[in-house]
Amino acid sequence: KAQSPKPKAQSPKPKAQSPKPKAQSLNVMSDLRELYQEVILDHNRNPRNFGRLEDADLRADGHNPLCGDRLSIAVKVAAGVVTDVRFEGSGCAISQASASLMTEGIKGKTIADTRALFDRFRRLVTDQTAPPDDSLGKLTVFAGVRDYPARVKCAILAWHTLLAAVDDNQDPVSTE
Ligand code: ZN
Repeated sequence: KAQSPKPKAQSPKPKAQSPKPKAQSLNVMSDLRELYQEVILDHNRNPRNFGRLEDADLRADGHNPLCGDRLSIAVKVAAGVVTDVRFEGSGCAISQASASLMTEGIKGKTIADTRALFDRFRRLVTDQTAPPDDSLGKLTVFAGVRDYPARVKCAILAWHTLLAAVDDNQDPVSTE
């Protein structure tokens, strides 16, 4: 008897494969996108400044119920400058990577600079028409989030939590 034809591959591919774009410029865009994702995945796997911060001056907890992300952020401030910041929590890769990159980005900055950075970051992840902003440094990896409105809260949670800490317990004005 004739054998039945070979069954088609049954195990689904782990990743949907998108066709390779042909135009060179599109390849560059695609590579950039992958690079950005790699940065986010790296910070999710190996979060920087993760853990408890003893003797923190400011603390706040944040929760994004839409996704289930939870963050606790602790900050040390001296003379209006963020001297140390750490976070703990669990959630999706975007929320954890955002917290990790935020802590890297604000250490050594003044509270005022941190607020300004948040304003620019919020524009990056919400405003479709925002021009490229080099001053955001590595935080620009989150630009793609603006195409996924449900993810904006994931990316911004760390910042809201940080600002809640700063606003609830304002460091006294420094007289240096
Ligand atoms: Zn999330």
